[in-house]
Amino acid sequence: MPTQTLDKEVVIIGSGPAGLTAAIYAARANLKPLLIDAPADAEKQTAPGGQLMITTDVENYPGFAKGIDGPALMEEFRAQAERFGTEFLEEWIHTADVSERPFILKTDNYEINTQTLIIATGASAMWLGIPGEAKVPDGFGGNGVSACATCDGPLPGFRNQPLVVVGGGDTAMEEATFLTRYAAKVYVIHRRDKLRASKIMQDKAFQNPKIEFVWNTEVEEILGETQAGVTGVRLRNVQTHEERVLACSGVFIAIGHKPNTALFKGQLDMDEIGYLVTAHRSTATNVPGVFACGDVQDNCYRQAVTAAGTGCMAALDAERFLDHLPVAMPGGDEVTIEGEHITPDHQAIIEPDGRMVPNHPEMAARED
Ligand code: NDP
Repeated sequence: MPTQTLDKEVVIIGSGPAGLTAAIYAARANLKPLLIDAPADAEKQTAPGGQLMITTDVENYPGFAKGIDGPALMEEFRAQAERFGTEFLEEWIHTADVSERPFILKTDNYEINTQTLIIATGASAMWLGIPGEAKVPDGFGGNGVSACATCDGPLPGFRNQPLVVVGGGDTAMEEATFLTRYAAKVYVIHRRDKLRASKIMQDKAFQNPKIEFVWNTEVEEILGETQAGVTGVRLRNVQTHEERVLACSGVFIAIGHKPNTALFKGQLDMDEIGYLVTAHRSTATNVPGVFACGDVQDNCYRQAVTAAGTGCMAALDAERFLDHLPVAMPGGDEVTIEGEHITPDHQAIIEPDGRMVPNHPEMAARED
């Protein structure tokens, strides 16, 4: 049972690049944000700092010409958010009620009421759960096993080497195609004889001479050595049950992502996979005052820098909302904290009582 109550203007959930960037902006705007992140839990795949905490070299985050370790980058983010007065709370949120403002979050020890909420809970890559896949030292995760080709593909250890991509969807096709820039060869291991990927992505992969498809096959185990990292995969044909070892230096798991949105199911609009739907011109969800940024609303780019970019947008949107200014909504209308709706064509304002007034000063003056 929560024993303490906190009243906040801005609460951010999640401490990856999106959440911490939102915190930096909101804190610098004097909004004294509270950032809540989940305690580290290997089984639930949560780690304060998000997915970069399980990444080694980050070579594509602008500003770090020599690259930086994922955890070191997140420490910098966190220190910057702290410097401007972000408060941190590390607790599981058990319930979130966004049916009216203030929104209410409950943890073991706190009931938190907030005027705006920024959701930056990210998405978790799905894993096969096979031997050798876990993070170092239990397996080769971070030492040859990855769920992000854009992040890790260009690393020196993968150059001119045979690599494996597991999956048959658009992500697998995209990752395999990307990896052919560096790899000697890319094997796509798929459990069926048909791809799930869209036709255009399939065609691009089929036409790429460096990609070879291994059909009706599952990866049973990732093989390797402590120093060298991944050296191969043990495969099993699901039809013939035949097993064999395929030599490779890296394994990219591309079997989908799961956005962390369970808390908001039935309360916020989501797509069929569970990603939060935000407006095109802002980070607003369908509930005024609730914003979403980073991978929890992005199943396309999924980069630290794009997450940070949308984190900045979410903080500016929350600030705008608290300043009584209109914020663009997913439906194309704009909404203020008072509940006024500006129509998508910008011609009219619908007042909270349902009255419609023109959005032109001269016409509105005439009406008065
Ligand atoms: P998908 O769910 O579309 O595909 C997942 C793939 O992984 C499927 O082929 C599935 O096999 C396979 N798979 C799932 N679980 C396992 C398992 N345990 N063992 C072996 N194989 C498994 O996920 P994606 O990440 O590819 O795509 C998600 C969404 O994002 C899609 O809507 C996609 O279109 C979109 N996307 C779009 C892109 C673009 O347009 N540029 C790029 C990337 C993603 P099976 O087919 O047998 O179920």
